[in-house]
This record gives sequence, C-alpha cells and structure tokens, in this order.
Amino acid sequence: MPDIAFVNGRFMPLSEATVNVEDRGYQFGDGVYEVIRSYNSILFGLEDHLVRLERSANQIQLDMGYSKDEWKKIILEAFKKSGYNEAKVYIQITRGVAPRAHPFPSGVNPTCVITVRELDRLSEEVRREGVKAITTPDIRWGRCDIKSLNLLPNVLARQKAKEAGAFEAVFVRDNMTTEGSGSNIFIVKNGSVITPSQGPYILSGITREVVIEAAKEAGIIVEERGFPVNDLFLSDEVFITGSTIEVVPVVEIDNRLIGDGIPGKITGIIIDQFRSLTRSDKS
Ligand code: PMP
Repeated sequence: MPDIAFVNGRFMPLSEATVNVEDRGYQFGDGVYEVIRSYNSILFGLEDHLVRLERSANQIQLDMGYSKDEWKKIILEAFKKSGYNEAKVYIQITRGVAPRAHPFPSGVNPTCVITVRELDRLSEEVRREGVKAITTPDIRWGRCDIKSLNLLPNVLARQKAKEAGAFEAVFVRDNMTTEGSGSNIFIVKNGSVITPSQGPYILSGITREVVIEAAKEAGIIVEERGFPVNDLFLSDEVFITGSTIEVVPVVEIDNRLIGDGIPGKITGIIIDQFRSLTRSDKS
C-alpha cells in the first residue's frame, strides 16, 4: 500500500479515506494537526511532534482519542505500511461529528486521521540559490502557538506570495516580524542568529529548536527576541525553517536584496549542521 490513511482505527489507501460532512474539522476548523517527515525510514523528531500535538489539543480542550504512546504506535504502523523511506505524515484530530452548533458537543468521539504520502523534496538547486519572500500583515488570531486546523490567513498569505512569484510570505504584526506562513524565520546580523522568541504569535517549530541547538553547537550566538520588520532588510542573511522544507535561505524580500542577494555563510553552516543531524539517527 503506498499512500496510506488511518481514520478512526482503520488503515486504508488514502484514496478511500473520507470524513463526514458534519465533522467539526470541516464545519469549524475545530481541531489540531501535526506534520512529521522521515529521513531514511526514521520519523524525525517524532516525540517532539507528539508533545506539541498533545499541547495543542490540551490548549483547546480536545480529547486526543488515544494517548501519546498509542498515537506513536499507530503513526509508526501507518508509516511502516506505506513503505516510504522519505514520507510526509499528517496527523489531524478534530472534535468529531455532530450537528452544527458552536459549543462543544457531548458524548462525541474525536476524529483521528493520519495520512502518509511520499515526500516531495525541495530541490537542492532552490536551496543553493535561495528563495524570494514577501511581507504581509499578520491577520491571524492571538494563539498562533497552537497548531490549529484554522489556516485561512496562512492560505491567503501563501497565495499572495505565489502571485508575487515568491516562495514564502512573512507575517508582520505591529511592525514586528513573527514567522512565515508555514515556517519560522531567522535573521543573521554581525555573525549572530536572531529569531523571534516563543510566545502566542509564533508556532514553536520543531525545526526551529533543532536549528537553534545546531547553531549553538557550531559556536554561533543565537538570540531569541523579537525584531522589527525593517531589520529583515538590514540583516546580512535571512533563512526560514520547517519540517518539510528544512532550512531555506531567503535572498530577496519585497523585491529588496538581503545582504549580497545570495545565500550567506552562516546559513550555509546551519544547513550543513542540520543535514548532519537529520541524516544521522536522531529521532
Ligand atoms: N510556523 C508555521 C506557521 C508553520 O505552519 C510551521 C510548519 N509548517 C512552522 C512554523 C515550522 O514548524 P516545524 O519546524 O515544526 O515544521
């Protein structure tokens, strides 16, 4: 079986997986999710993703359906069934199926879904050359730390980026840079790496955490603090991170070149560090 789905206790080909139209995920975006990728048949950071999933669920008082350890077993089973070495695994939990009414329904089981697809890797050419980005107002809610299914502002931002010929849209809230529509953002200034601190306005990326540790191990100073949008343009280097894209240099934002307009040295060191971590057995 290649592309696999797991829906409420049953494994099936992804093409056969369906959910009810009265599902609260469909009706309200009432649920949370995670995305995990694998390297050489190992799901990278699985435990960290499960911790974040549990936290997201707790924050919206959502029953996860299974314990964290049960989820781990099911995810590993789905991944194994797919047979992919390099896969993208989505986990989605919603508050279940009930007639449409805003308050939580009672006596309803959550809908638990896993999908496993082959990873469509970012081309190394794109990573070598760097990507363009745009900035856009951060119109999301005040709990971006919860990995909620409500992604409309992210969808609109990414579409705007696409129409501008850019890879990512960088959100700006009250003149401060928060994160990308599907990534965390880092700048490099005078040899130090700076990234917005954890808090309600960013998702605490698993890749972000790995990159911070990797940078420190490479002897690079890392500052976790907010910075105004203008610092993006004044920085020497910019890069973004995410589970599926890993570390990607950003060389142009809003049609303005970052540094020399080519991927920077520190970004290169971090890409190499990250690669050595992910290609070793660190799950
Ligand atoms: N921020 C947002 C808004 C995201 O959607 C993502 C993941 N796609 C990230 C940051 C990066 O998180 P992670 O490194 O855990 O994939």
